[in-house]
Amino acid sequence: MPQARSADAELDPLTLNFQKELEEEFRADYARKSVVHVRVGIGFAIALWCLFGLLDHWMIPQVKEAAWLIRFAFVVPGLLAIFLFTFSKRYDRLAQVAAASAAMISALGLIVMVNLVIRPPGAHPYTSGLLLSVPCICVVWRLRFTNAVWATLATLIADNATAVGFTGIPLPVIMNNNFFLVSSGILGLLAGYNMEMYIRRDFLQRRAVEKSIEEVSALREVGQALGSTLDLEAVLTTVVTRAVALSGASGGAIYEYDEEAQVLNLRTSHGLEAELVEVLLAEPIPRDHGAVGRAVAKLAPVQITDIQEAPELMLARARPVLARLGYRSVLAVPLLREHRIFGGLVVARRQVGSFSARIVNLLQTFAAQSGLAIHNARLFRETEEKSRQLELANLARSRFLAAASHDLRQPLHTLSLYSAALKLHAADGATGEIAIHINKALASLSALVDSLLDISKLDAGAVQPEPQSVNLRSVIERIEADYRPVANGKGLEFHVVAPDLLVETDPVLLERLVRNLVDNAFKYTAAGNVTLAAEMHERMARIVVRDTGLGIPAAERERIFEEFYQIGNPERDRVQGLGLGLAIVQRLAQLLGLTLTLESEPGRGSTFAVAVPAAADRRASPREPAPRDETAPGALDGARILVIDDESEVRAGMRALLEQLGCRVSVCSGYADAERLLEQDGLEDVHLIVSDFRLRAHESGIDTVRRLRERLGDVPALLVSGDTAPERLREAQSSGLPLLHKPVSADNLTEAILAALRR
Ligand code: ADP
Repeated sequence: MPQARSADAELDPLTLNFQKELEEEFRADYARKSVVHVRVGIGFAIALWCLFGLLDHWMIPQVKEAAWLIRFAFVVPGLLAIFLFTFSKRYDRLAQVAAASAAMISALGLIVMVNLVIRPPGAHPYTSGLLLSVPCICVVWRLRFTNAVWATLATLIADNATAVGFTGIPLPVIMNNNFFLVSSGILGLLAGYNMEMYIRRDFLQRRAVEKSIEEVSALREVGQALGSTLDLEAVLTTVVTRAVALSGASGGAIYEYDEEAQVLNLRTSHGLEAELVEVLLAEPIPRDHGAVGRAVAKLAPVQITDIQEAPELMLARARPVLARLGYRSVLAVPLLREHRIFGGLVVARRQVGSFSARIVNLLQTFAAQSGLAIHNARLFRETEEKSRQLELANLARSRFLAAASHDLRQPLHTLSLYSAALKLHAADGATGEIAIHINKALASLSALVDSLLDISKLDAGAVQPEPQSVNLRSVIERIEADYRPVANGKGLEFHVVAPDLLVETDPVLLERLVRNLVDNAFKYTAAGNVTLAAEMHERMARIVVRDTGLGIPAAERERIFEEFYQIGNPERDRVQGLGLGLAIVQRLAQLLGLTLTLESEPGRGSTFAVAVPAAADRRASPREPAPRDETAPGALDGARILVIDDESEVRAGMRALLEQLGCRVSVCSGYADAERLLEQDGLEDVHLIVSDFRLRAHESGIDTVRRLRERLGDVPALLVSGDTAPERLREAQSSGLPLLHKPVSADNLTEAILAALRR
C-alpha cells in the first residue's frame, strides 16, 4: 500500500517520532482529540486519591498524618494543577508532558508513600513493580521511544543498586527478581511500541485522506471559478491562494508571460509581504532569470531547496528581501497549455527542503488550470475588442448612410418637384420630351436613394410588417407589368406563371422583395430568359425567380447578401446599383420570417426562391397597393395647402408642382412664419398642412403641426422627411402623422394628399 510505505518513510522507527513539523502537527492533533479523556482520567485519579484519604484512618491508623500530607499537600494539588492546565492555550503543545507528569505524580506519590510511610522497617523496598510504570508511561504519552528504553534501563539499575546496597537480600533472589523485571520491561516496551506505531500510522493515513479531500475540493473550487467567471483576476487569485495553502508555503505568485517581449509580469500574489511584491512588480522578469524564469525556459518545474545555499539561482534584486524575510525554499512551475507558455506559478516557504512529488504534481494541475484561464481571458479580450470595432464600424456606417441620403435627398426632392411641374406644364412638344427624360433619370436616382433609405429603415426596426391574406397573382402581375418592357428592350424571354395562390404575409414588403430579385435577374442576364413563377408545395407557396444569366460562383453566394457587395467581374454588363438589393432582400425575408434559397451555376444562371406560408382563410387584402392613376393637372382642384419647409428651393418647387395640380398654396419656413401668415391672410380655409420634419433651429415638424392645429383645429397633415437616421425615423413614426420620404415623386405626393384629405 503506497500510503503505508510513505507513512513508514516519514516515521523514525527508533524514536517513533516524525520530522519536526509533522511531529508538532501530530502532537497538536492528538492533544485536541484526547483532551476529554485526559481530563476524565485526571479527575478520576483526584477522586480516588481523596477517597482513599478518607479510608486511611482505619486502614493505616499508625501513619495517618504522613499519608495525609503526601496525598493532600503533594499529589492532589499537583494533579489539580495539571487538570487546570488542560484548559490553557499552551496545552496543545505540552499535552504529552502534562499527561506524563500527571502519571508520574501519581506513581511517585505511591512509591514515596509505600516505601517511606507504610512499609514495615527492614523489609525489601517495594519499588520495582511501580518503577516499571515509568517506561510504559513514557511511551504511552508519546515521548521518544528511545527515552523509554533508557528509562527502563535506569529503573533496572536503580532497583538492583538499592537491592544490593540497602538490603541484605541474597543474590539468587535479586537475580530471580531481575528476570521478572527484564521480561516485564521488555513486554511493556513492545506493547507500547506497537500501540504507538499503530496510532501514528493511523494519524498519517487520516492526514493523507484529509489532504486529498482538501486537494479535490481545491481543484473543484478552481474549476468552479474557471467555469463561473471570466474575471481572470478572480480565477488566478483562487489558484494561488489554494496552491499556497496546499503546499504548506507562506506565499506565492502567478506571472503572465508576454510572448513578444519574452518576459514574465506579476499578475497576482497571495501571502507575500508588500515589500517583496513591490520588488517583484518593479520590472518584468526575463525568461531564464530566477526560479520562475527558468521554469518557463525549461517547460518544467524548478525547485530551489535552500535559497541560502544557492542564492545565485534567485532573481538578483529579490535576493536581499527574500533573505531578510526568511524565505528558504521555492517551487516554480510553468503555466502551459497545448505546449504554449502562458506564465508561471511560484510558491515560497520558510523551511529548507524539497517539495514532495505530490505537491509538484498538484501545482502542475493548478498551473494547467491557470493557463486555461489566461487563454480564455485572452480570447475573450480579443473577441470583445473585435466586436467593439465592429460596433464602431456599424455606427459609422449608419451615420454615413443617414448623412449621405439626407444630403442627397434635399436637392433630389426639389428637382423632382420641379420636373413634375415641368412635365405637367409642357405636356407636349420638345420640352415635354426633355421633362420625361429628366423624370426617368430622376426616378432611377430616387430608386438608389430609396435603397439606402430602405436599409436604414430596416436596420432601425422602423418597418413593421402587417401580415394579411395576399393573392400572389396580383403581386406577380404588377411586377410583370413593370418588367415586360425591360424584357422586350433587352430581347429576353419573360416567362410568368401567376396562379391564384393565397398567402399570409405583408404584401408591400413581399412585393419589394420579389421585385429586387426580378430586377437583378434582368440586370445580370444578357441572353436567354427570366422566369417569375409561383407554385404550391406542402402548404407553402414557392415564388421562384430564375434566369439564364451570369450565375453566381459558390464562393460568393454568402457575400452577395452583404451590403454594398458586388461581384467584381470586369466583363459584366456594368449597370447601376449600389450592392444593396440582396441585402434588402435578406433583411425583408428575415423580417417576414421567410426562407430564401439560392441555386446557381456560373455561366448558366441562377434561381432564387422564397417560401411563403399559405393563408388560412380567403380574406381580401385591404393593403394591396391599388393601381396608380397617372397624375393629371387639376387632380386636387381648389384644395388649400399650407407648405412648411425651411428651404426656399423646396418651398418654391412644392408651390410649382401643387399649383400645377390645381391647389391653392401658401408657403412658410416654420411656425413663426406661419403665425405671420395667419395674421395676414387668416388661413382659416387650410385643408392640409404639408410640413418638413426637420426645420431650422431645432424646430420639429411634429411640434409645428401640433401648435398649428391648436389654432386651426384638427387639419389633416403630412410630414416630409429627408432623414434616414434610425432614431429620427422612429420619432417621426411615433407621431402618428403620415410620413413621406424625400425625394417625393409627384404621384406619391398626390396619392398621399388625396388619402389625407379623404380622412
Ligand atoms: P446590385 O445588384 O446593386 O449590385 P445586389 O445586392 O442586388 O446588388 O447584388 C449583389 C451582387 O450579387 C451583384 O453585384 C451581382 O454580382 C450578384 N447577383 C445578384 N443577383 C444576381 C443574379 N440573378 N445573377 C447573377 N448575379 C447576381
